[in-house]
Amino acid sequence: MLRCALTIDDAPGPPGDVSSTLMDGMRRALERHGVKRCVAFVIGERVAGHEAELERWLAAGYELGNHSHEHAAATHLPARAVAHSFERCHAELERLGAFANRRERYARLPFGDRGKSPAERDAIRRSILSLGYTLADVSINLHDFVYAPLLESALADNRHADAAEVERRFANQARDGLRRSEQVTTLQSARGAISVPRDFAHVIALHFVPGTERFLERLLSAWSAHVGWVSLADAVHHLRALRRRRRAQWRDRGCAARRALAGARYGARAHAARREGGPAAPSRRPQRAALASLDALRLRCANDAQSNDSAARGADRDPVGQPDGPQRHRSEHPR
Ligand SMILES: [Zn+2]
Repeated sequence: MLRCALTIDDAPGPPGDVSSTLMDGMRRALERHGVKRCVAFVIGERVAGHEAELERWLAAGYELGNHSHEHAAATHLPARAVAHSFERCHAELERLGAFANRRERYARLPFGDRGKSPAERDAIRRSILSLGYTLADVSINLHDFVYAPLLESALADNRHADAAEVERRFANQARDGLRRSEQVTTLQSARGAISVPRDFAHVIALHFVPGTERFLERLLSAWSAHVGWVSLADAVHHLRALRRRRRAQWRDRGCAARRALAGARYGARAHAARREGGPAAPSRRPQRAALASLDALRLRCANDAQSNDSAARGADRDPVGQPDGPQRHRSEHPR
């Protein structure tokens, strides 16, 4: 059984007209499926006005983590500004009682961006750790923020066939991600990509965006037989042990030689698979194909919505599939 820790980023939801039922809906889905542990990573500046949902989340036994105050990419800011952003969000989380009863403190950098230079990255990491946080990486990103707006717009326009198609594609993409993860997955480390074996406890990321509620429901129904849900602390502990082991391997065998060997092995496996028509080697860019195949559907939704709009409501509505959210989120956790 694959062990996974579930995390949901960008709490309590998108800026502006955040649906106040979004967090409650996600929480109820977790409770219905008996998932006892989930960390919601909070954007500090979006807390005001949503304290009640965040407190209900904590009261249900789930956790809150620090996702910075403004959700800016660390590459675009000096290290001191990033540190300040995490401090401000920390103050919000303290105010909500997120760390009462010695609860764990987790932090996640927006977009998985650790900073623009080794010195900056080190300074950012140290400043976050100095607040008592554990940095929580992601090993399976489900890209729900790409699918969710398509689902929402299809439902809003009563295009039920398109809505079902989006849900089906999300489920397939998530299932493929999980299958690949059962075999092997790849993580970026300071020394390059490392292969991770199947005994690794994964960290899954979803996002608080309207529409994801349905994906979460579907995912928990489909995955409950294959996945054992563990705490983020356990998954991170596992990841650290694995990295220590890998670091020792890099040291022992020589970084360059090992990297060349890994590349040659991958190339040979892929070549053999192509020649024999057998199962393909795991893709290095696994979700890219699934996301690219969404473009046709996105375009169709946009065309449908535009014709619906001009027929029924005039042309004052944004074309479907091109809201600000997913464009902005496109590069989130790019790996
Ligand atoms: Zn985020």
